[in-house]
Amino acid sequence: MLEGIRIDEEYTIKQLKEMIKIKSIVGEERDLAEYLGSELKSLGFKTEMHDVEPRRPNIYAKISGKSNGPRLMFNGHTDTVPVCEGWQTDPFTPVVKEGRIYGLGSCDMKAGFACALTALKAIIDSGTEFGGKLLFSGVIDEEAYSKGAKAMLKTDYGKCDAIILGEPYPGNETKPIPLGITGKILYDVTVKGHSAHGFTPQLGINAIEEAAKIIISLDKLKMKSHERFGVGNHCTLKIEGGYTIYSVVVPDRCRFEVNRLLVPGESANSAIDDFNELVKSLNLKSEVEVKTKPPQYEPFMLREDEQILKIFQKVYKNVLGVEPKYAYNTGITDANVFAGEARIPCLHLGPERGNVHQPNEYTPIEWLLPISKMYAMIATHFLGRDSSE
Ligand SMILES: [Zn+2]
Repeated sequence: MLEGIRIDEEYTIKQLKEMIKIKSIVGEERDLAEYLGSELKSLGFKTEMHDVEPRRPNIYAKISGKSNGPRLMFNGHTDTVPVCEGWQTDPFTPVVKEGRIYGLGSCDMKAGFACALTALKAIIDSGTEFGGKLLFSGVIDEEAYSKGAKAMLKTDYGKCDAIILGEPYPGNETKPIPLGITGKILYDVTVKGHSAHGFTPQLGINAIEEAAKIIISLDKLKMKSHERFGVGNHCTLKIEGGYTIYSVVVPDRCRFEVNRLLVPGESANSAIDDFNELVKSLNLKSEVEVKTKPPQYEPFMLREDEQILKIFQKVYKNVLGVEPKYAYNTGITDANVFAGEARIPCLHLGPERGNVHQPNEYTPIEWLLPISKMYAMIATHFLGRDSSE
């Protein structure tokens, strides 16, 4: 299945180490985009960088096969989370210890990029013929608002038949491959009361106390149950109201934000309706305005007979000798944008993770080779010139 294609693990490790050295905390993705661009260019790809925001570019690359055919994209996000307390080594110096490579972003998700570069290099070096196009995108802002993913959909690169996201999902017990992910909205609720002297509260409408009545009733929010995901959930994240400078006045304004996960069948609009219905049932004296604010993500589910999944399933068994594990997840990735908004089938696949969004993040080296191999096999198979199974 992979005749003539040689995976160079040394190259993967070298790439991963180089990328760990490049600081790319959310908002500062430019240097990593430039690095990826120059590597892809040296492999023969046509590259483009587009600023999504000033000095925050997405990097795109493409190479055409010998004939027309499907378009397959390797995607990743170039941003990492900020450095947190508790690192025992410098987060921007790759440290190899006991079979792991430590560094900020090592598994989320520079290892995914390193494996994608390795697979693309292997395909090109081997001279394997393929049809269609191999695309690559490194997008900004996944750890925040997914501005990079949304910008990608507006370009020609948004027209692709499948995307492999190099997030750390190795398809084992701990991190099964997502067949669907919940969406989310952020409720932005303003309660408008009526001020009065705080010694005669009965003459006013206390917006904070009214808001409290809503918040303690959130469990009565009507939420759909989905056969795969179950019921979403809600979490109050922020509340503000009351005086700025101490004064005994009945507060006339209170604003609060509630995160809500959505399952397929629910939408931002239906979620606003649910909230209004709850408010109505409480017979409050205040006026309540329910809106949503970004970020907002659509839930999605993949069709189980999706071609990219069928190919993946075979390749996984071939490389690792076991069947992959699958799951329906809560959480958000850029696939909520690609699959949720644009209906592009997305396969999450990347090396096992260690300490994601925590100090001492690492990638187990043993996962780099099989992931690179699977990427190359899935790509050659998807682009239709590998008939030997
Ligand atoms: Zn990630």
